[in-house]
Amino acid sequence: MGTGMRFNGCPSKNELASAPGVPSLEDLNRKPLAVIECIEPIPCNPCEHACPFQAITVGDPITNCPVLDPEKCTGCGTCIACCPGLAIFVIDMNFTAATALVTMPYELYPLPQEGAEIDCLGRGGNTVAKGRIHTVKTSEKFDKTALVSIELSKEFAMDVRNIRMC
Ligand code: SF4
Ligand code: SF4
Repeated sequence: MGTGMRFNGCPSKNELASAPGVPSLEDLNRKPLAVIECIEPIPCNPCEHACPFQAITVGDPITNCPVLDPEKCTGCGTCIACCPGLAIFVIDMNFTAATALVTMPYELYPLPQEGAEIDCLGRGGNTVAKGRIHTVKTSEKFDKTALVSIELSKEFAMDVRNIRMC
């Protein structure tokens, strides 16, 4: 069986590499950035309006995939909770010398506890690594979506997109 959205509902490495919302590894190594894993031509654009720094462009037609401007993105995370597809993450590749911080949308209850050890899952739900919950942020602005930041070994930062509590 092939890989990619059409086959298993998860974007493949090749699809992500050509997505205009996914910054290069070079840019990610420079500073924390949004990673927008939105690769299908769907009519959607709240991310474009949520970014206070105009770092995301969907434009016209609304089915364009979002484009991230890495120079304008501050890694603030404001766009994460606005995405109905749960497709936006913020990655700090250099959180420490050995670890990265991956911030993701989380809509399950109970919310994880800060400091908890957790299983870090790939896009298909497979266990990829162990990690630690660094912060859990909730806000009226985020509606019912929490922002969960996970500290994990930096080699897994581009693979981990969900968690399972141990
Ligand atoms: S992380 Fe902040 S600055 Fe970057 S695209 Fe999202 S809202 Fe804009
Ligand atoms: S809000 Fe999410 S699903 Fe909609 S265009 Fe932006 S990234 Fe894609």
